[in-house]
Amino acid sequence: MFPKQPSQRIRQMTQMHRSNFWIWLSLALALILISIDANAEPPLVDIQSVNPTILVELRYAGNNNFVKHPLYPQGTRALARPEVAAALTTAQDILRRYEYRLKIWDAYRPVAVQAKLWQASRNSDYVANPEVGVGSLHSWGIAVDATLVDSWNRPVSMPTDFDDLTPAAMWRYTGPSFEILGHLRLLQWAMHRAGFWGMRTEWWHFTISDWKKFLPEEARQSAHVQGTQWNGQL
Ligand SMILES: [Zn+2]
Repeated sequence: MFPKQPSQRIRQMTQMHRSNFWIWLSLALALILISIDANAEPPLVDIQSVNPTILVELRYAGNNNFVKHPLYPQGTRALARPEVAAALTTAQDILRRYEYRLKIWDAYRPVAVQAKLWQASRNSDYVANPEVGVGSLHSWGIAVDATLVDSWNRPVSMPTDFDDLTPAAMWRYTGPSFEILGHLRLLQWAMHRAGFWGMRTEWWHFTISDWKKFLPEEARQSAHVQGTQWNGQL
């Protein structure tokens, strides 16, 4: 072997520097992607791991929903931001004093599932278009769909079933049954005391009242302009 010529050595060193540069660049890109992903996914907890007494029946995990087939994989848990799970515990504590409990029909909803619901309904009075404003507040882990059950976890009479997209599902019950009115008022009162707001068109939908602090500033602005739904304050 002949000793390497200086020009050969310089070429080799340049190549080494170049490959190092690419390694560092791909590492930096990977880190950026990880942080974007972390921003996209809100921190979530399993509601039942925070409070096992809250009943969960995720309607989009089965066929009993308005699209008539499962949208969630089997074994999906009801997830929400930790602050929302804590507020649900407060509501549950209030309801248990009156021999009732909460049942969760839906909680965190991935954007992909929201898009399927939007395609199926195309009705922005009830379903948020995921491409407008912030989309559904379910996808931020700050909204839940909830109803009441008795202390044996049996359903009680409420104005409508879940996702009944008709005027009968309005926040203000106008039907004739005092029993239904009493159940609805109790649910709304307990959720309000626990820090939730309701929605005008869906009695079962609740958003944490300080929802703004969980959204980035730009998203809040666009959400407001686009008229995404969270009216119906109690
Ligand atoms: Zn909802």
